[in-house]
Amino acid sequence: MTNKQEIMSAIENAGRIAIAGHIRPDGDCIGSCLGMYNYVHENFPCSVDVYIEEIPQEFTCIAGCDAVNSLYPDAAPYDVFLALDCGDLERLGKAQKYLKEAKLSVCIDHHKTNEGYAAVNVIEPGAAATAEVLFDLMDQDKISLNTAEALYLGIVHDTGVFKHSNTTRHTMETAGRLLEYGVSSSKIIDGTFYEKTYVQNQILGRCLMESVLVLDGKVIFAAVNRKVQALYGLESNDTEGVIDQLRVTKGVEVAILIKEMNPFVWRVSMRSCEYVDVAVICTKFGGGGHVRAAGCILNGSMHDVINALVKEIELQIK
Ligand code: 5GP
Ligand code: MN
Repeated sequence: MTNKQEIMSAIENAGRIAIAGHIRPDGDCIGSCLGMYNYVHENFPCSVDVYIEEIPQEFTCIAGCDAVNSLYPDAAPYDVFLALDCGDLERLGKAQKYLKEAKLSVCIDHHKTNEGYAAVNVIEPGAAATAEVLFDLMDQDKISLNTAEALYLGIVHDTGVFKHSNTTRHTMETAGRLLEYGVSSSKIIDGTFYEKTYVQNQILGRCLMESVLVLDGKVIFAAVNRKVQALYGLESNDTEGVIDQLRVTKGVEVAILIKEMNPFVWRVSMRSCEYVDVAVICTKFGGGGHVRAAGCILNGSMHDVINALVKEIELQIK
């Protein structure tokens, strides 16, 4: 039996299943978890719990949101635990305990830096989104509109609406097949990706205005310190999309956005255009991700963090 067959047969035969995604969930994490939740809930007799941190407002239109548990209570060991779109154990956050106790732990992901922390792993770095991997795993006759919509959401977000270089023919074909279940692409694309709150647009403007070019314009960075976050009352995902706008600055190869989480602790997001492997850089600092999109956490002043990152970029550019 292949890993995929083993996973789907374990789900069909389980009594209790849990699904969880990564901390600070994004569109692919939420789409993958809710897609799998809907699929299992609608087709199999088992009970299914889904654990994700608080869902940002724009994603609450996706079916299954009401079932999400963000409290991570202690629970009896699950028969099957599914970690979706989560590149390493640490990023499972409070759901780690379910994985450790489960009779069968499963990881389904597409991060190239994923080392396979579950008992059964399906990691496909060539897939644009975890949702794309899930579609191939599922029996297509058992996919409902609710499941299709969630998977479509995942693909839309991790490809930046089919524009990032991770978008393949297979990605497009998967999205195309999802449309056949009745998914409204404008509802998902406009409603969850392009629509921004006033505050989100303000912080985008501020980041662009204060951005700095370094390394002869090949690198651009912006920083959002805690004072600014408090001033705008920012939620963790309010800067989503800022890095994409920084990246498309003419001449730029690498964009960096750093956000201060605690004094001298910064969340780093990196994107590259053509040749710098940002996953290598972020992995070096304890994070991970993909060749063109990765993240990590760094300690120090804003200047320490930017200097450390730019030094690593410089090594690759030379
Ligand atoms: P973002 O910049 O959008 O937060 O993350 C970009 C990509 O890198 C995403 O695929 C995300 O899952 C991954 N990523 C971000 N931060 C981390 C991290 O600290 N560790 C790992 N392993 N992956 C990360
Ligand atoms: Mn993903």
